[in-house]
Amino acid sequence: MTAGDNGVKALGGELTCQELVELVTDYFEDALAPADRARFEAHVAGCPGCDAYLGQTRTTLEVVRATAVLQARPEVSALLEAFRAWKRGLA
Ligand SMILES: [Zn+2]
Repeated sequence: MTAGDNGVKALGGELTCQELVELVTDYFEDALAPADRARFEAHVAGCPGCDAYLGQTRTTLEVVRATAVLQARPEVSALLEAFRAWKRGLA
């Protein structure tokens, strides 16, 4: 995480929506401290906007993961490489 240290340290209190957005990647990577995770989940439980945001992010991450798995397959990466070469030929 970068450029987060501009004095917005409200640790111990309730998470704001902004903070939640900043923590969402850590949340999905299981990188949050247990206390932060509890605050995160408490906020989502009481905030429909962040609940929806979390659902959206989960879907996005699943698609990204599925795409990465797909691209790791040799026949797919060969296809992608051929496509890139084709595009280079057009440029
Ligand atoms: Zn919120």
